[in-house]
Amino acid sequence: MSKGINRRQFIKSAAVVGAGSMMTGLDFREAYALPAPSKWDREVDVIVIGAGGAGFCAAIEACKAKAKTLILEKEPIAGGSSTICGGSLAFAPTAMQKEKGIKDSAELFYEDLIKIGKGRSDKELVKTYVDEANDCYEFLVSMGVKFQSVEMRPGLSVPRVHRTNAGETMDILRKEALKLGAELILGTPARRLYATPKGRIAGVKATIKRKDISIKARRAVVLATGGFAKNPEMLLEYSPLPLDKIMAVSGPGTTGDGIKMAMEFGAAPSQMTLALSPITGVGIPMDVKTRTISQANYAGAVIVNKNGKRFVNESAPYTDIALAGMSQPDALIFHIADRTVFDAYKASTYSRMDAPLKAETPEELAAKAGIDRAAMLETIQRYNRYVEEGNDPEFGRKNLVGISGKPTPIQTPPFYAYVTKPALIATMGGIKINPKSEVINVFQEVIPGMYAAGEVTGGLHGAGYHTGSGFGKALIFGRIAGKRAAAEKPWK
Ligand code: ADP
Repeated sequence: MSKGINRRQFIKSAAVVGAGSMMTGLDFREAYALPAPSKWDREVDVIVIGAGGAGFCAAIEACKAKAKTLILEKEPIAGGSSTICGGSLAFAPTAMQKEKGIKDSAELFYEDLIKIGKGRSDKELVKTYVDEANDCYEFLVSMGVKFQSVEMRPGLSVPRVHRTNAGETMDILRKEALKLGAELILGTPARRLYATPKGRIAGVKATIKRKDISIKARRAVVLATGGFAKNPEMLLEYSPLPLDKIMAVSGPGTTGDGIKMAMEFGAAPSQMTLALSPITGVGIPMDVKTRTISQANYAGAVIVNKNGKRFVNESAPYTDIALAGMSQPDALIFHIADRTVFDAYKASTYSRMDAPLKAETPEELAAKAGIDRAAMLETIQRYNRYVEEGNDPEFGRKNLVGISGKPTPIQTPPFYAYVTKPALIATMGGIKINPKSEVINVFQEVIPGMYAAGEVTGGLHGAGYHTGSGFGKALIFGRIAGKRAAAEKPWK
């Protein structure tokens, strides 16, 4: 492109005047940073970028539709954040819920998602999610995914969070994709997308063993690159909150690559800055040492800061707890439990592999954890009194999770402290898609040949987070993207 001409202006004028470009001597191809090369190194039907939950589901469906499918993964191992997420999937109404006598419905699920998103979610995407949820559940069951339990979470009307072992589930998805004929190349970052002169996505430029290669996607490209929690510049750009207070625990590959590749073609951002907590993502208190999710609060632990003071309703959604934790000294959040709570936590489905500190007395525990001793003792005494009286005038804690469970006093030795910090496990905003998983540009038009699914997309969550909807959207919209991509007509 000749200097001084803005690329987009050029695209616009070129599109309008058509043959005009011939008069100027410019080629339409020059309108794009990467015009499709005349010779490709490889050719497939569908290229899926990213081997996480969304990528594997897209590949499975594309393969089922007989599309020759290639998955590019930049990390040396597949799985992305999906492998290390909590494994929770928000589905309803499912056979498992029915078996357990849980009365859920698509309507209630829809209402809860909208309510939790504080009315800001993209309603069409929410509707699609709900419409597809049970089918996705059955799809997973049919491949042998084991659902361990159906759980309640704050904000839900009924237990709906279906727990799986994320690692095992991802293993099943990977094997299925490969069995169906998908090719997976690891350690191969996609760099940029190619487009035809007409602006249709044509393929991918990737780097394999330090060499750039051009791969043609005859039908479509699916962006399944995850979020941007590991990209400090993007976080800074989109986040209103201090990043030094947060542990970023998502997969190493979540650096926003897909968002950038799509934005080059005018993809619209969706809810990038819609403040969830902490920052634009899902925040959850995580064990400082083991980096595992700590939820002893939902089994009855009381939460204090370093000064030994309570600062939040312990039964609030974990995103709210993480957000409140950010303004505490050193952003530390301590879950204090006694034996009763500890046993209940261990037995509960919330339990993860946390590493609590243990002591015979609250004094000793405070010393070990570095909490103000006198203040913590006073806080626990007051909290126990509130429990006894059945009234927490300070933070209004009534139940443990949602409407279930009752707080118990912290009094039976030994005592435990879970030392946690707010952690960013995912980002919620991303590029805009429609219910067909097609990427939408800033003028609300479909970008031909470009699909996206999972954490790279925004819009589903609104201003809140329904537990299990992050992993859920990756699988649900991954499947949609794969089916649709495979059904595209090959471009010439
Ligand atoms: P989702 O839940 O949306 O599937 P994940 O984080 O589980 O998201 O998976 C996204 C995957 O995409 C990760 O494995 C990540 O390493 C990979 N990825 C990110 N950027 C690129 C890129 N430029 N090229 C190839 N793979 C990428």
